[in-house]
Amino acid sequence: MVNADFLTSTNKLFDKALKYTDISPDLAKRIKVCNSTYTINFGVKIRNEIHTFTGWRSVHSEHLEPAKGGIRYDLASSQEEVEALAALMTYKCAIIEVPYGGSKGALKINPKDWTIPEIEKITRRFAQELIKRDLINPAQNVPAPDVGTSAKEMSWIADEYRKIFPTDINALACVTGKPPEKGGLVGRSEATGRGVQYIIKEFFRHQEDFEAAGFKGGLKGKKIAVQGLGNVGYHAAKFLHEEDECKIVCIMEHNGAILNSEGLNVEAAKIYQIEHGTFEGFDGGSFEKNSSEMLCMECDILIPAARENVIDSSNAESIKAKLIVEAANGPITFEADKMLNAQNIIIIPDIMANAGGVAVSYFEWVRNLRHIRFGRLEKRRNAYQFDTLISAIETMTGKEMPDKFKEQFVEGANEIDLVRSGLDDMMREAYQKVRAAKAENNIPDLRTAAYKVALDRIAISYDSIGL
Ligand code: NAD
Repeated sequence: MVNADFLTSTNKLFDKALKYTDISPDLAKRIKVCNSTYTINFGVKIRNEIHTFTGWRSVHSEHLEPAKGGIRYDLASSQEEVEALAALMTYKCAIIEVPYGGSKGALKINPKDWTIPEIEKITRRFAQELIKRDLINPAQNVPAPDVGTSAKEMSWIADEYRKIFPTDINALACVTGKPPEKGGLVGRSEATGRGVQYIIKEFFRHQEDFEAAGFKGGLKGKKIAVQGLGNVGYHAAKFLHEEDECKIVCIMEHNGAILNSEGLNVEAAKIYQIEHGTFEGFDGGSFEKNSSEMLCMECDILIPAARENVIDSSNAESIKAKLIVEAANGPITFEADKMLNAQNIIIIPDIMANAGGVAVSYFEWVRNLRHIRFGRLEKRRNAYQFDTLISAIETMTGKEMPDKFKEQFVEGANEIDLVRSGLDDMMREAYQKVRAAKAENNIPDLRTAAYKVALDRIAISYDSIGL
C-alpha cells in the first residue's frame, strides 16, 4: 500500500468518528486539513560530491503551540505520509491532554547508507533549514525521534539551534528525546514502549474489556507477537516479558522473524540482532524467513511496532490475535480495521497506545523550560517528613519498622520514578476516558471513541481561539 492511502485511511477514520460529535462540517474541515507542509531540498557535500536530500516538515494543527511531532529518516517517506503522521500527532496530543498542536517531519534517506559523521553533517544541514523557518523552535515546533532517528540526532539539532540563537535561554526545549547528559530526560528513550506496557496493563484492569476480547484472566503468561524490534518494539517487549511475565512468542523484523512458543529472551534477541543484523543463527528460537506472515500466527496479543499499513485487506481475515495494540503509527488500514472489528478483535489504537513518547517528551520540554530537575525541591523535605512519621510510628507501637520499608520511604522518588509515575497516570487516564466515551455514546470500537475524544477537545480549543 502506498503512503497516499495512509493519509486517506486517517481521514476516513476521522470522518467515521465525526458522526459521534456535534462538530459543524466547516469546523471539521478546518481540523482535518493539514495547515502547512514545507518541502526542503538541500545539498550536502559528502565523499567529494554534492548530494541533494529531500525533507518535509508538516504542521497539521496550531490550535495549541508549539506543534509537536517526530522526525523520521526513511527512504519510503513522502509528503502524504508526513501529513498523515502529523494528523495523528494532533489527535494523540489531544487524547493525553498535552498542550500541543500536531506536526511531523521526515528526511528521505536510508541511514544505513551513510556513516555516523555523514549522518551528523546531513542532520545539521537539515536542522539549519528547519530552524531558520521556525519549523524547529521551543515555542512553535518541537521535534523528537521517530523511525530511523534517536537521541544523537536530537542532540545535533539542539546544538544547531543553540548556535543560531545563542542567547535563547530556552534553546534546549527546541527538541525532545535528547540524551540525558545533553538536556534530555531519563526515561524518554523507553517511554513509547513503556506507555504500550502501561496501556495493556490498564486494559487488563477492566474485566468487561478483557472478557470482550475473549480473555479469561490477567496479563501474566499471555502470548505476545511483536513486529519491529526498534526503539518502541524492543522496550514494549522487554518490559512485558521481564516485568509482567508475558511470553514473547515471536519477534518479526524486516529480514526475518524469531519464534519460541515458550517465550523468547528479548534482551538476548536484541543483543544478537545488533551484533549480526539478523535473527538468523540465534539459538533462543527458530528462525522464519517470511517475517510478515507471522502477523497471522496464533497468539493472544499482537503488537505491530514497525511501520504503517502492515495489516490490510489481504491479511486482516487471517489475524488470530484477540487484542492488537498499535505501537506503530497507522499499522492497520481503514478497510482492515473494519474487517478486524467484524471479527471482534479488540484494537487499542495508535493515537492512545503509542502516546507515551509524546507524554514524556512533554515532561522533557517542561523540564528544559523550568531549568530544574523534577523532584529537586521536594525530595529532601519528603524524606524528612517520612523519617519523622516512621519515628512517630515506632515510638507509638514500640516496634521497629523493617529496614527495606524504611529505605524506600526515606530515599524518596528519583526522577525516573517520577517520569514513570506521570506516564502511567497519563496512559491510564487516556484509556479510562476513551472507554467511558465508547460506553456513553454507544460507539462500537475504541479507535472511533479515541477519535471522538480528540475531536471534541480540539473543537473546544478552536472555539476558544476564535477563527
Ligand atoms: P525504529 O527505527 O527504532 O524501529 C523500527 C524497527 O522496525 C526497526 O528495527 C526496523 O528494522 C523494523 N522494521 C521495519 N520494517 C519492518 C517490517 N516490514 N517488518 C518488521 N520489522 C520492520 O523506530 P521506532 O521509533 O521504534 O518506531 C516504530 C513505530 O512506532 C513507527 O510507526 C513510529 O512512528 C512509531 N512511534 C515511535 C515513537 C518513538 O518515540 N520512537 C513514538 C510514537 C510512535
